[in-house]
Amino acid sequence: MRSKLVVELASRVKNLPPYLFASIDKMKQEAKRKGVDLIDMSIGDPDIPTPQHIVDALKVAAEKPEHHRYPSYEGMLSFREAVSDWYKRRFKAVLDPKDEVLSLIGSKEGIGHIPLAFVEPGDTVLVPSPGYPVYPISVLFAGGESYIMPLTKDNGFLPDFKSIPQRTLMNTKLMFINYPNNPTSAVAPKEFYEEVINLAYKYNIIVCHDAAYSEIYFDEEKPLSFMEIEGAKDVGIEFHSLSKTYNMTGWRIGFAVGNREIIAGLGKIKTNLDSGVFEAIQEASVTALSTDDPILNGIRKTYQDRRDILYKGLANIGLELAKPKASFYLWAKVPKGFDSSGFVAHILEKAGVLSTPGNGFGAPGEGYVRFALTVPVERTKEAVDRIKKAL
Ligand SMILES: *Cc1c(COP(=O)(O)O)cnc(C)c1O
Repeated sequence: MRSKLVVELASRVKNLPPYLFASIDKMKQEAKRKGVDLIDMSIGDPDIPTPQHIVDALKVAAEKPEHHRYPSYEGMLSFREAVSDWYKRRFKAVLDPKDEVLSLIGSKEGIGHIPLAFVEPGDTVLVPSPGYPVYPISVLFAGGESYIMPLTKDNGFLPDFKSIPQRTLMNTKLMFINYPNNPTSAVAPKEFYEEVINLAYKYNIIVCHDAAYSEIYFDEEKPLSFMEIEGAKDVGIEFHSLSKTYNMTGWRIGFAVGNREIIAGLGKIKTNLDSGVFEAIQEASVTALSTDDPILNGIRKTYQDRRDILYKGLANIGLELAKPKASFYLWAKVPKGFDSSGFVAHILEKAGVLSTPGNGFGAPGEGYVRFALTVPVERTKEAVDRIKKAL
């Protein structure tokens, strides 16, 4: 007789907090089962298709047999050159395509892997909260310790470095920052990045800036890249993605740029774990990176129209929120008498509108709710009307 296999998860998996969007997905399925006409504003996944010229470029590239083999680990030189050219055009930042640019299977992949290259068990990593859940999880997988930097309204949703104990900074190996910010939609001024660079020099900290939303901006105010600040390349790298800019979340392509030693460290992890991005996708991404401004302005205009309606609508209802300058999120205080989860459950039940509880992005997000601008204008109006009735 064979006895049943005992499948025991490793503690690094057992100790994981429940994945935020898994519980939201459950709520969504439940609402759908009940036949609710759901307006889903919970997940930051563009509803607009990838621009046609990029899809066409993929079709052509997919036909080429030379793309059917294993790609190069660091990305095709033509792709890395296109990234370098794009940075020059957009930010006037100079990056050597040979060793200061690395392709990623979506920027989530790079963010998830970078602590494995640099963080020893017990090392501290500075993590903004509320924030993208992958930062603390990647630290956990590497055996590091996250030090939570709360992002508060009083500080413009920027970390307050002065509040971090000197002892912690001395033990810090790496820090994550992210502007335009998910979920708060805050943008960072030049002075902030200069402070980051000074801190990184002083305490020898590797800076990882996540710039996934740099191209989703409104009112012609272009967000900065970390790479355009003097000294940034001495201390850090920037993660970027085609996902949000070109509505390519399903394609899985992103890149890291900056300090060549940090890029090489991340590359070392990747060569041992994956085999790069399908070359046809890289070739189509070269086309994406040279997309004409009118197309991108059209995408921004779509989000801006939705932002204006949702911002005005929620402010009229009495929610406390700032008008986002970038990203496709609205970050609002929940009304008095609710906590984050209670409010999300209430407007799901009474209005059929699904949003994301702020505390799902970390404890400092408690008391907030995030709405994604990934729903067409008419449905956004409808969502506002329904939330108004539900309150
Ligand atoms: C969407 C997102 C990403 C990554 O997206 P990829 O599709 O993996 O490139 C990274 N950071 C933040 C903050 C995001 O919201």
